[in-house]
Amino acid sequence: MNKMSQIEQNLAAIHSRIKKSCVRSAFSGDQKVRDFKDINLVAVSKKQPIDRVREILYAGHRLYGENRVQDAIETWTPLKPDYPDVKIHLIGPLQTNKVSDAVALFDVIETVDRPKLVTALATEMKKQDRNLPCFIQVNTGIEPQKAGVIPSELPALLAFAKEKGLNIIGLMCIPPVDEPSALHFAFLKELAERNNLKELSMGMSDDFEKAIPLGATYVRIGTALFGSRD
Ligand SMILES: *Cc1c(COP(=O)(O)O)cnc(C)c1O
Repeated sequence: MNKMSQIEQNLAAIHSRIKKSCVRSAFSGDQKVRDFKDINLVAVSKKQPIDRVREILYAGHRLYGENRVQDAIETWTPLKPDYPDVKIHLIGPLQTNKVSDAVALFDVIETVDRPKLVTALATEMKKQDRNLPCFIQVNTGIEPQKAGVIPSELPALLAFAKEKGLNIIGLMCIPPVDEPSALHFAFLKELAERNNLKELSMGMSDDFEKAIPLGATYVRIGTALFGSRD
């Protein structure tokens, strides 16, 4: 048998932790065992050396997250032709002047958070004939420095996004560092249910095992997979 690379071992370890969290979901949150297939692992490749990204590609992983448009273009433009089935999520803030590049490169935009961005994305998606699924990012902790719509403004933003024809599939959040993330995950799930949204992007390296019993369908994991960033 071939020796597994460090990243393959990390990937296998994360898969097994996700499976355990699916089982543990029976004792919290929805009180039922979750299906491993319903949890999508977004491998956050931002600021990682290209060799590590290639290794996890060799290992067969196909779903990635990047937080900056320019970095994503640099990493993925040379890789995408060899891996046409790769899907990349934008998980960082999006400026309207980068919308054209973002719509061309990404497969999912997780960080829709204001009407101006909704309008720009809707226009650009029509122009490029690419109707990308999107998440609305919610600033669940109402932190002034953080991106995301504040919870009370979510229904209006969602209505506006629908009117503009954006395909909003779910909600995303990044909990405050100094608060228990589980509170924010439970809150995001409640917001999604209230607004009839199915997908929940929540949970990172340190807290994805809390997010899964609370309903995460996408977990965004960087350092636990790749090791520390540059
Ligand atoms: C960097 C980043 C992650 C991954 O963080 P880790 O702690 O390395 O797992 C997840 N989500 C967002 C929005 C990020 O910017």
